[in-house]
Amino acid sequence: MAEPILEVEDLTIEFQLKRGALRAVDGVSFSIDRGETFGLVGESGSGKTVTARSIMRLVPMPPGELVKGAVKYEGRDVYSMSDAEMRELRGTNIAMVFQEPMSALNPVFSVGAQITDALRTNLGMDAKSARERCIELMSLVGIPSPEQRVDSYVHEFSGGMRQRVMLAMALSCDPNFLIADEPTTALDVTIQATILELIESMIERFEMSLIFITHNLGVVAHACDSIGVMYASHLVELGKKDEIFKNPQHPYTVGLLNSIPRLDTQSKYLTPIKGLVCNMMDPPKGCKFNPRCEHAMDICRQEIPKMKEVAPGHFAACHLHDQS
Ligand code: SF4
Repeated sequence: MAEPILEVEDLTIEFQLKRGALRAVDGVSFSIDRGETFGLVGESGSGKTVTARSIMRLVPMPPGELVKGAVKYEGRDVYSMSDAEMRELRGTNIAMVFQEPMSALNPVFSVGAQITDALRTNLGMDAKSARERCIELMSLVGIPSPEQRVDSYVHEFSGGMRQRVMLAMALSCDPNFLIADEPTTALDVTIQATILELIESMIERFEMSLIFITHNLGVVAHACDSIGVMYASHLVELGKKDEIFKNPQHPYTVGLLNSIPRLDTQSKYLTPIKGLVCNMMDPPKGCKFNPRCEHAMDICRQEIPKMKEVAPGHFAACHLHDQS
C-alpha cells in the first residue's frame, strides 16, 4: 500500500482583520502519497495558496491563526516542530516555487550567489563544489550558457528564465516534495507549456511528490495524478484525475470543466460559471456555492455539506449526494 508523505487534517486557518475574522481555509483534509502529484485547483481567493503556505508554515501568525487541524510530513506534526526543525524541513525536504520569482529572488545578489548560498547552508558544500553544482542545476533546468549566467542578476533574465532559476533554487536542496504555486500563470502561453514540461520532467527525475496550485483545471490535466477542488475556503471535491475529469460530482467542478476550451466538443462557446465568488467576510449560509448553483435546494442554504465518498477514492461535498 502507498505510504502518505503528507497528511493535511481538518486544516482551518483564520486571519484576524480589523473588520473581523476571515476564514481562509476551512476544514481541509487530504493526503499525498510518496511520488504522487496532486493538483489543488480553484479560483483566486479560494484558499489554495494559504493551504499550501500553511504546509510550510509560511503563513505569518498573527495575523493568521491555526484554529484547528494538523499538517503531518512523514508522520511528524509540522506545527509542533521547533523553528530549527522547520528550517531543516524547508531546507532539505520541501521546496516551493512561486508565481512571481521576483518576489522570491533577491535583486541585489547574482542568481549564482543565491543558489550557492542555499547549497552551502543546507547541504554544507564548500564554495567551489557549490558553484559547480549551481552551474549543473542551471544547465539541468535549461538555462543556456550557465557558466556565464551564474553571475547574472535576476533582472537580466526573462520571465520564463526567472522561473527556471526558481526551479534550480528549489532543486538545490535536493527536496523530495515540491509545492508549485501558479508557477506558469504570469507567463506567455508558449512559455507556460515549456515550464510545465520542465516541472514534470524534474518531478520524474528527482522522484518528488508535488502539489501544483492553479486556477486552471486544464493545466492539472497533464501534470497531476489526483486533484482537489477548492471553493470559498472549502475542499469540495477530491479524487483521482481521470475519475474527476470523467465523472465530476460537484456542480462547481462541473462548471470549471465546462469552462475549459476543448477540441472534442461541437460547441464553439465556453460556458462560464454564473455569478461571482462570495465575499469571504460575509459568506452565504450553508453551501458557499449555493448562490451560483443551479441545483441549490433549501438544505443548501442552511447546512454546509460534508465530504462523502461517492465512488471508491472519490469524494464530494454536496447535498445532492446526501441520499447516495
Ligand atoms: Fe449546489 Fe447544494 Fe451541492 Fe452546494 S450543496 S453545490 S448548492 S447542490
